[in-house]
Amino acid sequence: MIKPPPLAGVIGNPIGHSKSPKVHGHWLRRYGIRGQYLPLHVTDQDLEQVIRALPKMGFVGANVTIPHKTSTLQIADQLTDRAILIGAANTLIFREDGKIYADNTDGYGFIANLKQGAPHWNPKSGPAAVLGAGGAARAIIVALADAGVPEILLSNRTRPKAEALRAEFGTRINVVDWVQAGNMLEDATTVVNTTSLGMTGQPELRVPLDGLRPDAVVTDIVYSPLRTQFLAQAEAMGCTVVDGLGMLLHQAVPGFERWFGLRPEVDDALRKAVLG
Ligand code: NAP
Repeated sequence: MIKPPPLAGVIGNPIGHSKSPKVHGHWLRRYGIRGQYLPLHVTDQDLEQVIRALPKMGFVGANVTIPHKTSTLQIADQLTDRAILIGAANTLIFREDGKIYADNTDGYGFIANLKQGAPHWNPKSGPAAVLGAGGAARAIIVALADAGVPEILLSNRTRPKAEALRAEFGTRINVVDWVQAGNMLEDATTVVNTTSLGMTGQPELRVPLDGLRPDAVVTDIVYSPLRTQFLAQAEAMGCTVVDGLGMLLHQAVPGFERWFGLRPEVDDALRKAVLG
């Protein structure tokens, strides 16, 4: 019997805005793989039933996005250490033995983007300054600590959220008050905006950047617009800047490889396909 083409998709609510179908669709076409990647609109009430049904319908895996990244942990049969530590999953693999395996590749995507966009980046060269302590910051803090950053200076408008991350992830994190956030940039050789500030439709990030070191590598995980004011200012001060689109593209690599059997490339053609 001929095997049907493998299916994968992204589960979320809403789902129309997701760029994942463009990313995976580009790779499937580019590598001539017989397969499909679909957007799947799924409500909270239906999440478990849908996830359990997908393998029976020919799905080999799925991405999970807002608002299901945390609740998926309760549904999966096996979790990676990273998914447990971050407290969220974004990539599911439906194994042949029927088990659902959940991973989180956001931190991988973040680091791979920095390495591609700033090949000279050395995480051990000095402290990292992280602005924001929301969902995305969790994965980034874990990834930076894993990459060997000696200290993480963390600042968030709602300070207790930053304190909670410090309590959870350890003493290598030092919390800085939001009104003092500009000061923490002076020592940092890696600077990350993980807040939603600067995104189209949101207020600008108002943290004073005059303390930035020109040798710092600065990245913004906001990718709409691609060149945020934060990145433009950092670049004008001589810093190496890396936009946030690459994080989204790189986090998709491990899932595609597991589902479709080929490690795809993140390159300009992919960026154009996703932005177009
Ligand atoms: P989230 O959990 O809602 O966290 C939002 C963060 O932004 C919090 O730290 C919040 O501070 C801060 N913030 C929001 N409005 C603010 C304001 N007016 N002043 C100061 N701080 C403010 O969201 P998330 O999931 O972490 O996502 C954050 C951003 O990253 C979004 O724009 C998202 O699209 C983007 N993102 C990009 C990627 C990628 O692959 N490039 C991946 C994930 C997310 P409080 O705690 O004080 O509210």
